[in-house]
Amino acid sequence: MLALVAEDRGAGAGGRVLTAAAPDGDLTAILERVAATVRPHLGEGRVAGYIPALARVDPSRFGIAVVTVDGRVATAGDARVAFSIQSISKVFTLTLALAKVGNDLWKRIGREPSGSPFNSIVQLERERGIPRNPFINAGAIVVTDVLLEGRSPGAVIDEVLEFVRYLADDPAVAIDEEVARSEAETGHRNYSLAHFLAGFGQLKNPVESALSVYFHQCALSMTCVQLARAGLFLASAGRDPLRDRKVVRPERARRINALMLTCGHYDASGDVAFRIGLPGKSGVGGGILAVVPRQGAIAVWSPGLNANGNSHAGTIALERLAAEMGWSVF
Ligand code: GLN
Repeated sequence: MLALVAEDRGAGAGGRVLTAAAPDGDLTAILERVAATVRPHLGEGRVAGYIPALARVDPSRFGIAVVTVDGRVATAGDARVAFSIQSISKVFTLTLALAKVGNDLWKRIGREPSGSPFNSIVQLERERGIPRNPFINAGAIVVTDVLLEGRSPGAVIDEVLEFVRYLADDPAVAIDEEVARSEAETGHRNYSLAHFLAGFGQLKNPVESALSVYFHQCALSMTCVQLARAGLFLASAGRDPLRDRKVVRPERARRINALMLTCGHYDASGDVAFRIGLPGKSGVGGGILAVVPRQGAIAVWSPGLNANGNSHAGTIALERLAAEMGWSVF
């Protein structure tokens, strides 16, 4: 990262620096109301049982946090309890890969919604190892392969962790090794996808290296507050508004948001765009990061998943919050 952030250091720096975000009472009251309306739904849905370390999480937990571009923070419920961010990490690795290779990334990965589950292999065969987008598992594995060029898996894992700590403005963000190990032991689908990619000549590094990075990024453990803070640059034209420092160019932030809107919830992306109308990325840990351009970032967590592998209560909460605040990109 350090390359990414270092390269941008000083670009327009020197403005307002607001590191400690301030609490916001009005927004907190709204989040409390949202939390109350989703309470009857907590425990509905199923936790991600195919990753044993996630199967033990209490499905009735719920947390939500909003961090605004002017540095206000509002929370409700378990907003400061760390959870496994899983596929939400794909937003951060995509950001790093674009910084590394720019638009060359799109020679190896598409930008279309897949209309298929996140771990589907069918399309990958038909489309000869070019994943539909960077947010399905196959696409994210190619992203890790890009990050691995000239680097060891350990160095890339450190880079991802440092980048996310930087974005979250919190050195306490950590990788849960037990979750990473648990997935490495049972991730047959991901091994299949990676071998398929390799079979089409679409991986330059060993399958084990790409998956080691992938399982560790998915095992990043963060709170809603840390996650919303980390996503804030996407709400602010690629600039971290609280440090007044560029993370990515405005056009790039816009495009990452476009991919989140169209592909961030797998085969439910259309439904989420319809119901919520905000760019978002979900993970099977039950987290969702959503971006409200020019306003702020929202992170919600509730481990019970719907049939598409997205947080059931989290989706309802985002729908209520967006409606109540009038937040939508449309
Ligand atoms: N680690 C998970 C997997 O590969 C991530 C999937 C997700 O969060 N949707 O299955």
